[in-house]
Amino acid sequence: MTGSREGNIIIGYVWGIPIQINPSMLIILGLVTWSLANGLLPQAHPEMTTLDRWLTGLLTALLFFASILFHEMAHAWEARRNGISVQSITLYIFGGIAQLGGKPKTPGAEFRVAAIGPASSILLAGIFLGLNQVIGDRGYLGASTEWLGTINLILAIFNLLPGYPLDGGRILESIVWGATKRQETGVRVASTAGQLIAYGLMGIGGFRVFQGDVLGGIWLIMIGFILHNAATAERRAFIAQGQLAGIPVSRVMGLVREPEVPAGVTLQELVERHILGQGQGSFIVTAAGNPIGVLDLRTVSQVPRGDWQRVTTGDVMTPLVDLPRVHPTDELLSAVQLMDANQLLSLPVFDGNQLTGLLTRDEVIRFLRVHTEAGG
Ligand SMILES: [Zn+2]
Repeated sequence: MTGSREGNIIIGYVWGIPIQINPSMLIILGLVTWSLANGLLPQAHPEMTTLDRWLTGLLTALLFFASILFHEMAHAWEARRNGISVQSITLYIFGGIAQLGGKPKTPGAEFRVAAIGPASSILLAGIFLGLNQVIGDRGYLGASTEWLGTINLILAIFNLLPGYPLDGGRILESIVWGATKRQETGVRVASTAGQLIAYGLMGIGGFRVFQGDVLGGIWLIMIGFILHNAATAERRAFIAQGQLAGIPVSRVMGLVREPEVPAGVTLQELVERHILGQGQGSFIVTAAGNPIGVLDLRTVSQVPRGDWQRVTTGDVMTPLVDLPRVHPTDELLSAVQLMDANQLLSLPVFDGNQLTGLLTRDEVIRFLRVHTEAGG
């Protein structure tokens, strides 16, 4: 464990990509180990000792998570082969997410990046089921290899359901995109299909609850709910991206004029004078009149209130030299992607060596809202 980001724990790096786990995964790891050690394993091998059951259960659970990681790494590998950067791989309760730096540029690339995930799970299913045939019950691994083979197969089939945000949704998008030559049509079809699949899962979940399988039913409803949100968010993000493409940074960055504050000002003064008084959220920090850093509300709110009298803007600002910079003529879409990749709320805009202002997330949102209301 080397660090954390948004509550996720980084457990290592592959090809320079941080591999993170959500802390919730540790609970799931415990639950899977427990259910294997007390259900599947004693059923298959009643003679196993308690220690053997728990150790085999833990090993099997770890191999299950390794399988999910393998699936995500397959996406990452194919994405990189197609010139798309990969920001991170995160394992969640519901599986994994490979965070890509952009969308594939062609239907073929979209298809390949999506399809390799389920393909890798099917490969793993074949390996585990093959092992099961070869080693049989030796070392009590019969039940584990069969379970791992089956669960990888289930993972592949579930991911092939043809709707966002599942791999099958991206495959569907790429096929519609290729056939109609319009990516937006593919995105709309895959998003709607994802919403329908989500409603289907919620419906089945409700039915299960009725039948008395309350926990299993609620689980399905939850998965349906999450899928529905993701399917909707993905379409919105695509439409928003379309609106950001071809627009220069300079058209948006001026919507709000960021105030300049000297580095010696305390957070208390900043909050009273600028944040409460004028509702501003991003600041340029200066020393002797020259801009040296940026500061936003999020950073201020992370400092304990009791320290606001003592801590100055210079103490907590992000120095300009540590930030990526954009040019006023840069495309808004790439600037926003840069912000996303670095998890920033604002970016300094430089014309040559001259800081001309900040591009803030607020301004982008405001721009999108005006744009959408105008009938976009
Ligand atoms: Zn996948």
